[in-house]
Amino acid sequence: MKRLLFSLIFICYQCAVCFAAEFDVIVVGTSPICLLEALYRYHSGNSVLILEASSKCGGSWKSIDICGIQHADLGCHTLGHDRQMLNFLQDYVGCTIVSMDHPHLPFDASNSPNGFYFPHGCYDMVNNLLHLIAQTDIVLLAEHPLESVYVNPDRVEAIARSKGMNFTTKKILVTPYSEIKIENQSSPPVNKTKYFHLYLLIEDPTPQRFTFHNGIGPGISRMMNLSYFVGLEGTGTQLIVFQTHQQHTMGSPDTYLDHLKKNNLVHNAARILKAEPYIYEQAHYNASFGKNVPNANLIFELLSTGHIQTMASYIPKWKKVLYSTPASSTQ
Ligand SMILES: Cc1cc2nc3c(=O)[nH]c(=O)nc-3n(C[C@H](O)[C@H](O)[C@H](O)COP(=O)(O)OP(=O)(O)OC[C@H]3O[C@@H](n4cnc5c(N)ncnc54)[C@H](O)[C@@H]3O)c2cc1C
Repeated sequence: MKRLLFSLIFICYQCAVCFAAEFDVIVVGTSPICLLEALYRYHSGNSVLILEASSKCGGSWKSIDICGIQHADLGCHTLGHDRQMLNFLQDYVGCTIVSMDHPHLPFDASNSPNGFYFPHGCYDMVNNLLHLIAQTDIVLLAEHPLESVYVNPDRVEAIARSKGMNFTTKKILVTPYSEIKIENQSSPPVNKTKYFHLYLLIEDPTPQRFTFHNGIGPGISRMMNLSYFVGLEGTGTQLIVFQTHQQHTMGSPDTYLDHLKKNNLVHNAARILKAEPYIYEQAHYNASFGKNVPNANLIFELLSTGHIQTMASYIPKWKKVLYSTPASSTQ
């Protein structure tokens, strides 16, 4: 039911005909901090437009369909142990919190060296946020990249262009990973970093032996067993994702399975059912961005999103206007 509801909400987001072309604030991207800041600006009395280039919301916290499994985390995530953040996600975003290391148990610092997490992975957090957005008049346009911005220095406002539409605004919220082009300045090409992932769907009759693990072999930076979060627990099938340093290390799924076996992280008889790579690209905000355009500094505001834990610095501000949300109301 919850999944059906969000499909319907997205159909509405896509029908870009019935909203104004002027917004107090435009937010670029849909990672959790962007969505929360959009909610904050809205509940502070602003009209808000969110532009998201991808068809899926969440940025690097989005979930993907891979190896035939729906709503798998993109890559390997940790949220840490911060109590303030945990309480906020629980009370204001409506998230259920579990132990990352023992996801069938509630979080307790003593049972979860890798911190806390969500029962269905980051899908829970992003979809709860989208549900909160859907309860407001915020306009969220997925598959709508902010292609370029014209800054009018005299009026201290900007025209943001996306797919043939122009939106006027006084404020554009960007992050260190927004891809932004200003029309009134010549900009160098945007740098992008690629993050390489390999997903293995394996047959293993034994229970999953880890959730989050740092690299166990050359080229592997970290890995996550997503089986519990995607509902594979107890099925004899496991979904494991590796984040690798380079593309060529993604070439040999059998090597990865061997690493798992050598480290006793799967049964010796485990075998690969499916292997699929996934590459996530992040743009890098240019430090000289907007420097030669008068008043651009008054229009663009840089959110601090480098780590999810930077959320903690925003929480006191957000709590002043956001409503406390019982977990059940966003399910
Ligand atoms: C694979 C991966 C795993 C990570 N794991 C962790 C973790 O476990 N813990 C942690 O603290 N941090 C993690 N990070 C760091 C992560 O970058 C931050 O947590 C946070 O997601 C950054 O948010 P962001 O919005 O700046 O960038 P992103 O999450 O990359 O999101 C950027 C979003 O903006 C959109 N966008 C960009 N330019 C435009 C445009 N012009 N128009 C419209 N949309 C645009 C993109 O499509 C994307 O959806 C991870 C990063 C990656 C890449």
